[in-house]
Amino acid sequence: MVEPTLRDIIDIDDLRGMMCFFHEAVGLSVGILDADNHWLISLGWQDICTEFHRGRQETRSKCLLCEARIQEYLTDKEYLSYPCPNGLMETAIPILLNAQPIGYFFLGQFLHEQPDVDFFRRQAIANGFNVASYLAAVDRVPVVSRQRIDDLMRFFIRFFGLLTRIGAENQQRRLAELETQEAKEQLEVRVHERTRELNDALLEVGDLAAQLSETLQQVEHLAVTDILTDTYNRRKFDEAIRYEQQRTREGHQPFSLIMYDIDYFKKVNDRFGHSCGDLVLKRLCRLIRGLVRQGDLLIRWGGEEFFILLPGTLLNEAGQLAERIRQEVAAEVFPQAGSITISLGVAQLRDGDSIDSLLKRVDDALYQAKQNGRNQVFLGSELLATGTC
Ligand code: GH3
Ligand code: MG
Ligand code: MG
Repeated sequence: MVEPTLRDIIDIDDLRGMMCFFHEAVGLSVGILDADNHWLISLGWQDICTEFHRGRQETRSKCLLCEARIQEYLTDKEYLSYPCPNGLMETAIPILLNAQPIGYFFLGQFLHEQPDVDFFRRQAIANGFNVASYLAAVDRVPVVSRQRIDDLMRFFIRFFGLLTRIGAENQQRRLAELETQEAKEQLEVRVHERTRELNDALLEVGDLAAQLSETLQQVEHLAVTDILTDTYNRRKFDEAIRYEQQRTREGHQPFSLIMYDIDYFKKVNDRFGHSCGDLVLKRLCRLIRGLVRQGDLLIRWGGEEFFILLPGTLLNEAGQLAERIRQEVAAEVFPQAGSITISLGVAQLRDGDSIDSLLKRVDDALYQAKQNGRNQVFLGSELLATGTC
């Protein structure tokens, strides 16, 4: 982990404001240097330093040399008090974080005792300063007892100890908050991505489900459909007739059945070809589907024999429908074969009927229609009367 700098953990502007108050209160110059030797705060410098010592090469280099060696001196000390080569006192403490210096605090440019005027006069002459102005500047240097400076520095050791500890804790908290925020944002991004992936997958599954359901419907339709004529097949017939028989037994409604067969269809095939025969079958079925009700079922029994299942229909109603179908078929002109006719047998499910007995009666009725000359309807009820059944 990168160690924080003084700037990272302390608001330098705030600290500068505070140090201004301190300087105004006690009149001492204050400085704070960071671990890389940059002045972060520097205020209240004495005229003797700014106007004289710093202004001339020889005295200036003494100041800088002194500054540069402070860190070295402070590595194993918590408080350093020293006379600068130009005759003033300086004090410094390291600003520590986890026992490591991250900066240095200075109080300086003061004297512990009244100035040695002879010394400063000699210094002025040696460096070519205006003696009177220089001595006046010396006179403005604050004189503070060693005890008072020690007390102040003890205060600052504790002050900076507290400041760096709180600052470091605050910085750690900020970093932790930042990490939490980053982790939260990353999590949100991942949740967002996963949600999108999931939605895409759900859409895909939805599409597949829709396709599957459509395919299933097609398969179910094919399972009960005759491909050529698009009528129902025998599988549907078996299921539907059992259902209607049950409904009739339970007394819900009557149920009738028409069976029809094309007259002389072999001849159609023989004359026009089998594929023309197929087209005739298709067209015939389309015509008859248009003549029955929605709930009636048109079923290809085999070859060119068909059933029409008529739920809720009495024999005479079924007979009327059969007659209408017969007439419509006879009137139709088939482009592939001209006119054709059909014969129809009709029967109603009676009490005591089995499916077999009903089928036999309607088959017999159709047979009778054929026998009677074709292109006609024969009702199952007439079989008894004629003694054919
Ligand atoms: P009728 O019923 O009047 O006694 O004479 P028919 O000539 O129609 O005789 P039948 O019903 O016994 O013969 C049915 C013919 O229908 C036999 C077969 O060639 C033809 N057929 C059966 N299924 C198909 C089919 O799917 N397509 C074609 N084109 N012909 C078929
Ligand atoms: Mg026939
Ligand atoms: Mg036939």
